[in-house]
Amino acid sequence: MTDHKWIDLRSDTVTRPTPAMRRAMAEAEVGDDVYGEDPTVNRLERRVAELLGTEAALFVPSGTMANQIAIGLHAGPGDELICDSRAHVYVWEAGGIARHWGVQARTINPHGGLIGLDHLRDKIQPDNEHYVRTRLVCLENTHNRAGGRVHPFESVCAISEWARAHGLALHLDGARLMNAVVASGVPAAEWASRFDTVSVCFSKGLGAPVGSAIAGPAELIRRAHRLRKALGGGMRQAGVIAAGALFAIEHHIDRLADDHAHAQVIADAVERAPGLSLESGPVETNLVWITVDPEAGTARQVADRLRESGVLVSALGPQTLRAVTHLDVSREQCERAAEAILRVAEGLAARAG
Ligand SMILES: *Cc1c(COP(=O)(O)O)cnc(C)c1O
Repeated sequence: MTDHKWIDLRSDTVTRPTPAMRRAMAEAEVGDDVYGEDPTVNRLERRVAELLGTEAALFVPSGTMANQIAIGLHAGPGDELICDSRAHVYVWEAGGIARHWGVQARTINPHGGLIGLDHLRDKIQPDNEHYVRTRLVCLENTHNRAGGRVHPFESVCAISEWARAHGLALHLDGARLMNAVVASGVPAAEWASRFDTVSVCFSKGLGAPVGSAIAGPAELIRRAHRLRKALGGGMRQAGVIAAGALFAIEHHIDRLADDHAHAQVIADAVERAPGLSLESGPVETNLVWITVDPEAGTARQVADRLRESGVLVSALGPQTLRAVTHLDVSREQCERAAEAILRVAEGLAARAG
């Protein structure tokens, strides 16, 4: 699928390791990480903790596992977490909240916006035997399904103060935290300091083939080791993949600005294309969520026609498309994709008219 003839904008997970990253992986020093003896994994975990300003971090196979471990750290059977109704933890983690931990989710629909303190104030259940115990709030930054938007930092600070004042834990799904860092100029450690735990993905825009981490206080990360083992995430000579993640941290953070600029090229075309619009307003990072006007056709039709032009996007709803920029698509390829989007939209509009 992902060979050179395609401009693959389906996701930032489709990137393949660069030759330099592959060399770092091939040369990685390794040991048995379940024994704590993989020097490359240990180095990565120290590096992530340093980047996020936390006491400790734990390398895990996926962002889903990082989020699920966080939920297991903060809540248990009969507890409740609060999250956006479009949150990855709720929508795209195979019901893990309920199936692993017996936790129920209270979802909030911020009507196209992002969760702010005003959505949360009245959501803590009373301390009374009739009610579930409200334990945890999960935020997502950048917010994938909300158009890759960045939470305003002041809003996160206000939520954090409120959560602390009410004894609630706060977890950040930071699968794309580095995109938020680059787009906002707020350092990773500033964001992280507002949360109890933070997950980050190396396999999205950072371009590593595998891996995520959960970061937080040493005591929580000690407990996280046991939850990782319980979920089957204890890996052995994991330094081979940790080396890819380390390489990504050292070389692929600043260049996320290119992905954001390339997303603007796609977004400009969408705004000019008849029958297409940006689902969540102006694009802030590398995710472009697109609404297809039913008069023009379906998302599937648009995606199929783009594929005929060599451009791959995801149809993620009857009228919803997503195009994502990443390190395996150049500016020139994004310009070609933008032209294809305009051409396809004009073709469908001419037919509909
Ligand atoms: C991709 C993603 C994750 C984790 O996904 P994995 O495929 O399990 O690594 C978590 N949160 C968000 C917002 C994501 O986009």
